[in-house]
Amino acid sequence: MSNQRFNAIANSHTRSKLEIEETGRRSEYFGVNVFNEERMLQYLTKDAYDRVKAAVVSGAKIDRKVADQVAEGMKTWAISMGATHYTHWFQPLTGATAEKHDAFFDFSPEGRVMEKFGGGQLVQQESDASSFPNGGIRNTFEARGYTAWDPTSPAFLYGTTLCIPTVFVAYTGEALDNKAPLLRALGAMDEAATAVAKYFDKNVTKVYATLGWEQEYFLIDKSLAFSRPDISLAGRTLVGHSAAKGQQLDDHYFGVIPNRVLNFMKDLEMECTKLGIPVKTRHNEVAPNQFELAPIFEETNLAVDHNLLLMDVMEKIADKHFFKVLFHEKPFKDINGSGKHNNWSLATDTGVNLLSPGSTPMKNLQFLTFFVNTIKAVDNYEELLRSSIASASNDHRLGANEAPPAILSIFIGEQLNEVLNELEGVTKGKLSPEEKTELKLNVVGKIPEILLDNTDRNRTSPFAFTGNKFEMRGVGSKSNCAKPMTVLNTIVAKQLIAFKKEVDQLVDKKGLKKDEAIFNVLREYIKTSKRIRFEGDGYSEAWENEAKSRGLSNNKNTPQALQVLTSKESLALFKSMNVLSEIEVRVRQEVELEEYILHIQIEGRVFTELAYGYIIPAAVEYQNKLIKNVVGLKEIYGAAHKKMSESQLDIVERISEHIRAIKIKTDAMVDERKKANNMSDINKKAFAYCDNVRPYFDEIRYHCDKLEQVVGDEYWPLTKYRELLFIK
Ligand code: ADP
Ligand code: MG
Repeated sequence: MSNQRFNAIANSHTRSKLEIEETGRRSEYFGVNVFNEERMLQYLTKDAYDRVKAAVVSGAKIDRKVADQVAEGMKTWAISMGATHYTHWFQPLTGATAEKHDAFFDFSPEGRVMEKFGGGQLVQQESDASSFPNGGIRNTFEARGYTAWDPTSPAFLYGTTLCIPTVFVAYTGEALDNKAPLLRALGAMDEAATAVAKYFDKNVTKVYATLGWEQEYFLIDKSLAFSRPDISLAGRTLVGHSAAKGQQLDDHYFGVIPNRVLNFMKDLEMECTKLGIPVKTRHNEVAPNQFELAPIFEETNLAVDHNLLLMDVMEKIADKHFFKVLFHEKPFKDINGSGKHNNWSLATDTGVNLLSPGSTPMKNLQFLTFFVNTIKAVDNYEELLRSSIASASNDHRLGANEAPPAILSIFIGEQLNEVLNELEGVTKGKLSPEEKTELKLNVVGKIPEILLDNTDRNRTSPFAFTGNKFEMRGVGSKSNCAKPMTVLNTIVAKQLIAFKKEVDQLVDKKGLKKDEAIFNVLREYIKTSKRIRFEGDGYSEAWENEAKSRGLSNNKNTPQALQVLTSKESLALFKSMNVLSEIEVRVRQEVELEEYILHIQIEGRVFTELAYGYIIPAAVEYQNKLIKNVVGLKEIYGAAHKKMSESQLDIVERISEHIRAIKIKTDAMVDERKKANNMSDINKKAFAYCDNVRPYFDEIRYHCDKLEQVVGDEYWPLTKYRELLFIK
């Protein structure tokens, strides 16, 4: 009966590594599959090129005539590269990306065969929105939506398909995707940050939010992964006793990458390079079979697209190398989960990183301005930011005794803490010349240009300043970075607008000098945002209590975390920043609750299958073996068999106890699922799944894992942790 497991193991032993030859230098073939500037110059008229550039830089509209020209250029290039199809590539509210392929091939009005792709097809495409999650819009509004070209993210060729990054909107105008709100938030950020950056440099005309993600993942041999129903259907192991050897020896982290994996990585990186994804670092992570890939940071919208594309490419390349890649945040019990740290900063079109301390007091005042405003923004909206990284799978990290915790706090390091403490003492109103000099020389002037060494120590903080950027660490490995990036950029933009207003008022009404006004406003922000700063360990019970007394939220599960989305403050924020209308927020909340329910529901169903279809039958079979042995002993030895069969009978009884517990708990879980399924209120249903269904998982698992230890190895049908986790 455990054939599946042993076949899979045998299969996994036959793998030889795929030899991957690196062709040419990466700098030479970087972006060859992208319709980038170089190609645009080659395939577009000067006018069309200028118009696209203007659209990218200042959001200028592209008219139909230009769109036709761009489409023609794109088509010519794509077909010359062997493309046969094109697709509008977009980010529906759930899942990663979606695409609908259309052939270039078409008939002309005269019935001749031709290759057709015009401005109309480039700019807009119909898409049936009704089959994508769209929450209440589906009932309230027309379900049909369309995808529209996003010229700020270049089209690329993937296989033989020309992919055009697009937003996905309902005909009534509501965003049905994750990209549209992100673009709005980035626009708001540009406007707000540029206005503030102009205090320091009049030449700044644009500010880009930058994002450098770090993608963690697990690689499992394909046959082994598919031998497990839980990995196949839920993306994680629902049962499985930890291997005798896990990550305790720390021998995997930064260790030698196994050859088979190295070839996968090489192949992946080559493909990414062609697609213009600037991949840079790769290494083993803490857990066995866990790895990380990080690119050079980019403008946020592009970085988000690149991360989504990467995940897709990764799955395909992994398959070619007979691996399955697991993006789930916690695929295995007792070993580290996976995250996707989001490194975030702001860059001006004059080439300055606004979160990087500089060489002069003025540059440092600029740094402090953006630094403190970010802290203030996160303090104001910590709960909302937490909600942006909530998901059923990420619940296994956040709030589940694994760093980072569900509580948002900011780590800035000792040096910067000292600086902020000093700034708190700045005089109210006008500053004396002595105080100004003192501030410039000994406070602001003392921030070293390079802070990296000082600030990079705390690895468990959920939001850490790491020298010239903030690193948001709670983002799930599976998730779309657009969600947290939309919230982060919206709240910081909102904060910068408030800041500018306050500073201007002090200058206009109180006659303060600009720098005096800035010091005055920052002082108040530092004072009022203190509770969000925390230098200690990311997860501890003491911190949980402390955070509670500071009034910080600690939402440990998704339904709880998602509530804040529709609070008065959140709705007002999104509306005032033109990022999401009330209906759009409500739709998102509903879709995410629904997604949560579906995930737990699937896991519940898989549990039933594992219990009844795999584990109980295996346990019974092994138990029968023992019983047969006892019967045999009795037959041969008569009364004397008692002592000889004592141990066997003990195991027989233990097996029965575990079977009984598994059955009772699985049935009870199914009952709770049925009850939950009958609820029509989506919020109540999500909480029912969270509070009444999910708790059974650990209990059922406990008994399954106990059985795994007791039942003879050859009877056990599910590929074990030690088999799954150690690729050689
Ligand atoms: P660690 O693993 O210690 O966090 P890494 O070197 O792996 O550090 O990751 C650093 C990440 O930060 C990279 O993805 C890099 O692109 C990104 N990064 C560096 N500078 C910036 C910046 N100004 N804005 C956004 N991301 C940045
Ligand atoms: Mg990191």
